[in-house]
Amino acid sequence: MNQPLTVEQIRRAPKVLLHDHLDGGLRPSTVVDLAREIGYKDLPTYDPAELGVWFREASDSGSLERYLETFAHTTAVMQTRDALVRVAAEAAEDLAADGVVYAEQRYAPEQHLERGLTLEEVVEAVQEGLELGEKRAADAGRSIRTGQLVTAMRHAARSSEIAELAVRYRDAGVSGFDIAGAEAGNPPTRHLDAFEYLRRENFHFTIHAGEAFGLPSIWEALQWCGCDRLGHGVRIIDDITVTENGVPRLGRLAQYVRDKRVPLEMCPSSNVQTGAAASIAEHPIGLLHDLRFRVTVNTDNRLQSGTTLSEEFARLSSAFGYDWDDIQWFTVNAMKSAFLSFDERLALINGVIKPGFAQLKWAADR
Ligand SMILES: [Zn+2]
Repeated sequence: MNQPLTVEQIRRAPKVLLHDHLDGGLRPSTVVDLAREIGYKDLPTYDPAELGVWFREASDSGSLERYLETFAHTTAVMQTRDALVRVAAEAAEDLAADGVVYAEQRYAPEQHLERGLTLEEVVEAVQEGLELGEKRAADAGRSIRTGQLVTAMRHAARSSEIAELAVRYRDAGVSGFDIAGAEAGNPPTRHLDAFEYLRRENFHFTIHAGEAFGLPSIWEALQWCGCDRLGHGVRIIDDITVTENGVPRLGRLAQYVRDKRVPLEMCPSSNVQTGAAASIAEHPIGLLHDLRFRVTVNTDNRLQSGTTLSEEFARLSSAFGYDWDDIQWFTVNAMKSAFLSFDERLALINGVIKPGFAQLKWAADR
């Protein structure tokens, strides 16, 4: 097996991030600052280092209540225009510092209305922040392009309204739509009206499916709702059997997902935390990569998982021996699957990603 690539090496590679939650990526110090500003009293600690550890441990605990509590704290401090601008700007800066050149940031506007903002004001504040972060990154010599994925909560009943909001802002920073939240008991077809509307509008959307819940959720998301990508989709592995002599056999749904090049937004550390995978080494991404599914690598919630995209790749490199060619393959997969126009995707692949990896490989060969 190759010597695994280190986080520092991978940080230099131009990377693409499709699945990253804005309310799951705050700096612990920002959570503390914002809580103090608004007089929020419920944080378990006001020491940023301790708080960072608390977020990771609560997410590792295997308890859904504690995991959800982490998001109660982050969304509680993201209720004003200034807070949203700051959090979005820092997200773009932090991702750029990690070598990410294109990122989609997702969040549910309906969770940021507690202090009187309208849905429109939320989207506009996040956009202002992302643009500010892009500019600060550029000033520091790093180029990142961002887009918003506006998310509806799957247990709520506002998906059509949120889908219309997303389409209204399609030329003002919103590149796609998503549904998130507890998968069990909330099948994607509950929101069929929203998805049918989005398709009539020629709009792009992904659906969190096949994480906590299995194949029926993936099947509904694809064949009833018509999603462009699968958020996680890790349970597609349930439709693949490996025979005694090691030959993989794909069921009809897995075959369809692979044949149609349906992008899978895989989030290894997050899946281990929520129990969707037993460990990084046993994560289905290994087999799905070997079978050449359209796999992408993502962070999901950088704060809760205490991770970055470079760290996710480094973990995969140690577990599966992935080298620069593999990391480039995941990256090109992600760029091909981005909710960005074809010519812009091509420009990033040929103008930024391939030259960036070529340089790293050239340096490694010397
Ligand atoms: Zn997610």
